[in-house]
Amino acid sequence: MFKAVLIEKDEAGYRAAVKEVDDADLPAGDVTVRVAWSTLNYKDGLAITGKGPVVRGFPMVPGIDLAGTVEASSHPGIAVGDAVVLNGWGVGEGHWGGLAQRARLKGEWLVPLPAAFTPRQAMAIGTAGYTAMLCVMALERHGVSPGQGEVLVTGANGGVGSVAVALLARLGYTVVASTGRPQEADYLRALGAAEIIDRAQFAAPGKPLAKERWAGAVDTVGSHTLANVCASTRYRGTVAACGLAQGMDLPATVAPFILRGVTLAGVDSVMAPRAERLEAWRRLAQDLDVDKLELMTREIGLGEVVATAAALLEGRVRGRVVVDVNR
Ligand code: NDP
Repeated sequence: MFKAVLIEKDEAGYRAAVKEVDDADLPAGDVTVRVAWSTLNYKDGLAITGKGPVVRGFPMVPGIDLAGTVEASSHPGIAVGDAVVLNGWGVGEGHWGGLAQRARLKGEWLVPLPAAFTPRQAMAIGTAGYTAMLCVMALERHGVSPGQGEVLVTGANGGVGSVAVALLARLGYTVVASTGRPQEADYLRALGAAEIIDRAQFAAPGKPLAKERWAGAVDTVGSHTLANVCASTRYRGTVAACGLAQGMDLPATVAPFILRGVTLAGVDSVMAPRAERLEAWRRLAQDLDVDKLELMTREIGLGEVVATAAALLEGRVRGRVVVDVNR
């Protein structure tokens, strides 16, 4: 038996709680992992609260991320005792996930724990941080560089936003952080933000084109915010879009794209190819300041996951949450 957060849905309703689960109920897979740390991402919040249609089968163990040690493996190249990390691949959505003391997975989903990080640090990064890195890589791929001017990060106090601010600042960019929590300005400055702006200026319908300001942007918010960010991006700038905290809609015009050559670069972490994941983790090891990572990270036990998931969706969690699945 092992402990796991279990989401159930039946006549009694949609609910999540910590339960004792039988090893025999683990899903099919060629690697069994003793989980040490997991984390809470926005998507985990949607799954645990039922506020978004994330879970594709019940009962489900949520948790799109995990770090742990291999207990059993018939997968070539993965041996008992290996330290591994998992991000995405539909785990915690359609396959039992990381908010548990044990997981059974496909070996091809796993990447080695980067030597630069402890399992706890890898989960402090988690999908949010790995996605922030994918966004930075997307900006670089489209030619954005620190000398070109200010870069914007929206949802800056969130998990993806916090890591994006820290990464971009470390890489030499002048980072402007957009937030609905101006009281966290000192935190954002400590991560490296040069200026803090109120997210309200992006929240409502805007003009097709606004004053050109951003050489690049990482948007975690979507909806009107993403439309307004594109409208205020400079000639030939790039916006990396990964999130929907404001909404999934995109009420925009094509004006920034056809008149200013702006690039809208979509970023998906869930099914990203293995080579890109390995590169993102290599870059995180190189470019993320672990002191800043610690500054943005709070630790909870498995029993606090359900309440924290609700707080995260309400925008009350700052930065990243790591979960010690053994307490
Ligand atoms: P968090 O909840 O940690 O952060 C979201 C942040 O968005 C909040 O902290 C808040 O920042 C801001 N926000 C919340 N509500 C609103 C609103 N109504 N309008 C404007 N801003 C708002 O989530 P994550 O950082 O984990 O994820 C951020 C987004 O990225 C999510 O939508 C998530 O689904 C998506 N995502 C996508 C991935 C992909 O593969 N494409 C991978 C990982 C995440 P503040 O208080 O500073 O305003």
